[in-house]
Amino acid sequence: MIWAVVPAAGSGRRFGGPIPKQYAQIGQQPLLHWTLSALAELGELAGLLVVIARDDPWWPGWGEIAGKPVLTAIGGAERCDSVMAGLKALPDSVGDQDFVLVHDAARPCVRANDIQRLIEQAALTDGGLLAAPVRDTLKRAGVDRAQPRIAGTQDRVGLWRAFTPQMFRRGPLLAALQASRARGEQPTDESAAIEASGLSPLLVEGAEDNLKVTTEYDLAIARLLLTARAPRAA
Ligand code: C5P
Repeated sequence: MIWAVVPAAGSGRRFGGPIPKQYAQIGQQPLLHWTLSALAELGELAGLLVVIARDDPWWPGWGEIAGKPVLTAIGGAERCDSVMAGLKALPDSVGDQDFVLVHDAARPCVRANDIQRLIEQAALTDGGLLAAPVRDTLKRAGVDRAQPRIAGTQDRVGLWRAFTPQMFRRGPLLAALQASRARGEQPTDESAAIEASGLSPLLVEGAEDNLKVTTEYDLAIARLLLTARAPRAA
């Protein structure tokens, strides 16, 4: 059995609008409920630890989803601070060497069979993450941000896009995030902190529709995907 930590304490600065993106409505439910339901669907999932912002007026107070317990913790200034708060708040039954899934609240379209493969494959290693190879040609922009011009073309061979869930052992992940923070870094995913601790996480290829809802356009795509998959909840 495995717990999931879901950082949902972002203010959604890039998203704009009065409501943070994790509470945008998709069909009958807020986006966050779709994300938590996708995780709760997994047979192995023991429970969900949702990290919310202090004084979050939108949190509906769910105590369980699909029969799985939902606990909360209060997040911090950066995503990594919120993840650390979540790891610390997990129940005592989660041992230091137990694997934990960390999944962005803003990724409601993740597929259960991808998470299943991540759990099976990464459990045989020090941990890993869902990701997909880069398929577009990558351009590096020059210094002029107002009128960007190409300074070079990046070789895309061997480059991957990191998604979530990311699965690591509770104790080593917390230690790696704390060490990154102590060096003054702000790792934007768990893997970056684990890599800095000297390990090489496993890349498990997942569907590219596991998008992170960042803009109104992403939200429109997430609505289309989710309501097509579950028309009754739409
Ligand atoms: O900002 P970004 O899109 O990288 O956020 C990814 C996830 O981390 C989102 O689900 C967001 O709510 C969460 N987050 C958080 N605490 C922060 C910043 C972001 O829990 N301080």
